[in-house]
Amino acid sequence: MPRPIQALIHTGALRHNLARARAAAPDAKVWAVVKANAYGHGIERVYEGLRGADGFALLDLGEAERVRALGWRGPILLLEGVFDPRDLELCSRLGLWHVVHETRQIDWLAMHKTHAPHRVFLKMNSGMNRLGFRPEAFRAAWARLDALPQVEEITLITHFSDADGPRGIASQLALFNATTQDLPGERSLANSAATLRHMGAQGRTSSDAEGLRSDWVRPGIAVYGSAPDYPEHDAAHWDLHPTMTLRSRIIGVQQLQAGDTVGYGSAFTAQQPMRVGVVACGYADGYMRVAPTGTPVLVDGVRTRLVGRVSMDMLTVDLEPVRQAGLAADVGSEVTLWGQAGNGAVLDIDEVARAAGTLSYELMCALALRVPVEVT
Ligand code: PLP
Repeated sequence: MPRPIQALIHTGALRHNLARARAAAPDAKVWAVVKANAYGHGIERVYEGLRGADGFALLDLGEAERVRALGWRGPILLLEGVFDPRDLELCSRLGLWHVVHETRQIDWLAMHKTHAPHRVFLKMNSGMNRLGFRPEAFRAAWARLDALPQVEEITLITHFSDADGPRGIASQLALFNATTQDLPGERSLANSAATLRHMGAQGRTSSDAEGLRSDWVRPGIAVYGSAPDYPEHDAAHWDLHPTMTLRSRIIGVQQLQAGDTVGYGSAFTAQQPMRVGVVACGYADGYMRVAPTGTPVLVDGVRTRLVGRVSMDMLTVDLEPVRQAGLAADVGSEVTLWGQAGNGAVLDIDEVARAAGTLSYELMCALALRVPVEVT
């Protein structure tokens, strides 16, 4: 028998969350963002659940080839564009749309002998200060692209730095709109937070949404069932369902006496007699080593807590709350690290991530290769 750890990818939840993004922006086309191997889920594993999207947005050519290999004939967008002029040939061949965010990418296009014109997404740096042309350089970049026979269509794109927080999108949006006002073409502005909070009827609480036109929205994390603005809102608030579950089992039990410690560094000391369960899951499986005592877990669907340090292959959990719930947790009992327990209880990945001082994005992406995955 293999180690009892397993990840589950929930196809129905992917479909549901995609529908939620669509409902928030009913007039927009939806890119399902599947970069980073579909946020750690596996591109091939999410394809069935996300094939109702209007396109797939991702980063590298290898991932684009994998989506084409699955039979997808619709749009694919390279969110960072090409990294080398030779990649333009493959873009033409696979019909990939690509972001243009810096001058060299325009130079490469100008030199490219193409048989199929390119569809490009010209990126403005409206304040994020990662990728894109600053507003004062944007129109010149647009004019250069527009004059190229290699370019068939230009969509305007920018990315918000604070769509999930109190700063909001107003200043970036105003700059973007002022700069692009009279330029033709579609727009792509909204990630998950902007889609749900600023486009969705449920979230439209501020004047931020005024002037927000995003013909293509780009939800990533929402599609994977996590609230983009946690802890202000949780997944339940946005009616998002978990798409990834990480489950394992108890492989050993220790009866501690008061004063006994657990694990490396003796980081946890029992205050009274208690049972702890040893779980087949550690940082080599993608669980966070920094997760402190108190990080929530479910044992047989009952909420309890991590105790002591997470080690490479194991972690330890307090079994007292499980006993108090009337269950006799023992070797073989199910442990849900995040996602859905067998009894239907849900442990919100956002809550687990927060306890460890990080975000759900990082937990999903860190799922280790050695963890067997089942698509449900
Ligand atoms: N668009 C771009 C350009 C991104 O870089 C990302 C992710 O970082 C997304 C969309 C999706 O963001 P989120 O997962 O927050 O919806």
